[in-house]
Amino acid sequence: MTYEKGDILTIDITDMGINGEGIGKINGYTLFVKDAVIGDKVRVSIMKAKKSYAYAHLDEVIEASQDRVKPLCPKAKACGGCQLQALDYKAQLSYKQSKVRNDLIRIGGFDPEYATSVLKPIVGMENPIRYRGKSQFPIGRDREGHIVTGFYAGHSHNIIPIDDCVIGAEEYAQIMDKVAEHMRRYDIAPYDEASGTGLIRHVLVRKGYNTGELMVCLILNRGPSYDGMYITGQGELIRSLSSVENMTSVSVNLNRSRDNVIMGEQTHTIWGKECIEDCLRISADITDDDSCTLSDFSKDIDAGCGIDRLDREITYEISPRSFYQVNPIQTEKLYSLALKYAGLTGSETVWDLYCGIGTISLFLAGAAGHVFGVEIVPEAIEDAKRNAAKNGIDNADFYVGKAEDIAVNEDAAGNSSEALIDMSSDTDKIILPKPDVIVVDPPRKGCDTALIDTMLRVEPKRIVYVSCDPATLSRDLKLLCDGGYTLSEATPVDMFPHTVHVETVVLLSRKDA
Ligand code: SAH
Repeated sequence: MTYEKGDILTIDITDMGINGEGIGKINGYTLFVKDAVIGDKVRVSIMKAKKSYAYAHLDEVIEASQDRVKPLCPKAKACGGCQLQALDYKAQLSYKQSKVRNDLIRIGGFDPEYATSVLKPIVGMENPIRYRGKSQFPIGRDREGHIVTGFYAGHSHNIIPIDDCVIGAEEYAQIMDKVAEHMRRYDIAPYDEASGTGLIRHVLVRKGYNTGELMVCLILNRGPSYDGMYITGQGELIRSLSSVENMTSVSVNLNRSRDNVIMGEQTHTIWGKECIEDCLRISADITDDDSCTLSDFSKDIDAGCGIDRLDREITYEISPRSFYQVNPIQTEKLYSLALKYAGLTGSETVWDLYCGIGTISLFLAGAAGHVFGVEIVPEAIEDAKRNAAKNGIDNADFYVGKAEDIAVNEDAAGNSSEALIDMSSDTDKIILPKPDVIVVDPPRKGCDTALIDTMLRVEPKRIVYVSCDPATLSRDLKLLCDGGYTLSEATPVDMFPHTVHVETVVLLSRKDA
């Protein structure tokens, strides 16, 4: 049976899709209903009908699910940032757990019983609000021409005005008010996507969770040359922003492009420091192997007869364009797991690919022989090097490059700390010594197949895969398991409460090791 646009139906929501939409079935026909949650009985009207499924509008919740809650944010329904605020947090966690499991089975091709046995319970947050250490607010005009700041509505670039985002830091609202107020006073135009005119495109704000330090970066539709004073009344704006308690850095970033990429290449600090600092603390059980030797960090490690436990704090400098995990509270838990899965005993050569500012690498270095970090953003690598020095770590080296372009130096001894850079080709190829362990933490699109091939060729004992998309993770796990690895354990970590996103950390072990 099929239905058509305008049909009105009553259905039970029995599942939720990858974007958090409710899913209900009627006579074998599937309906996707935004804002409906599992367990709801709803009345819907069909908006767009296909042969076997349709998108329907939620007209009325007839019987609310026992997991339905009042969203914390009054704008949650319209804003594209949070998709799950109407779902109780425990139910959000079980939705994410089954999302990872389903992808392992459907995309990864793992047997359902096996997937259940290797998948550990998701690590949730105790208090899932105010966790975002970074937010990027678009600035535009509403229909009446007033300046608005907030977030984009789902699947569009219409700005939903948000006064205070409950998953962001408390100070963000004050900062955004000050920017909007200044723009109104001096009649500064926000960027207009359609015409490519206007000045201020986005405002990036960051907060160091453990230090409280704040950063603001105004992304301007200017460049490539920099004249230092693009904003009318810039001195006054700086005074206003720097009066926010704990403000540490104010910068502008120049971006003239007409595409959706938020930040341009050039950043100029206009007040305070270039970076903010944050620190992360990890206490992890690493291994019970007692045949190991302790690295230089042994003094920081509460070790019995080997490196069983790593108990360490690392301080990071973070510049505006560098990637830094948005939820530091959960990051500490995520990295503890990554470290445990790496199973280091003090002597290993480790590759940390997609290393950002060296966040995981510097913890790995505490239990490894040598760590090689590779990352595509040059500023992040500069930060990583500075961070290593700042924390007195001398067994981690960092290189700018693409993870998929890495080659292995077959001749180098296993514990060599030498990497070579091949400048003979257009893109510099980084040639690293053979690894015992590889850690990868790619963006949503997952690992390039060239990197998967490299990993299979160099045969590390273990691969630790940190992923922010269970679909691409499952795709890559299939390739790695077909190539000789066993999926030993996977743990989802809720880095992004109230959104559909879920992070997963996975241990792969070589079958013949
Ligand atoms: N491991 C880091 C960063 C993970 S985010 C942390 O936990 O903080 C993914 C990182 O991969 C980003 O810093 C991004 O700039 C980088 N990246 C994206 N594509 C890349 C590629 N092809 N090769 C290397 N790094 C890449």
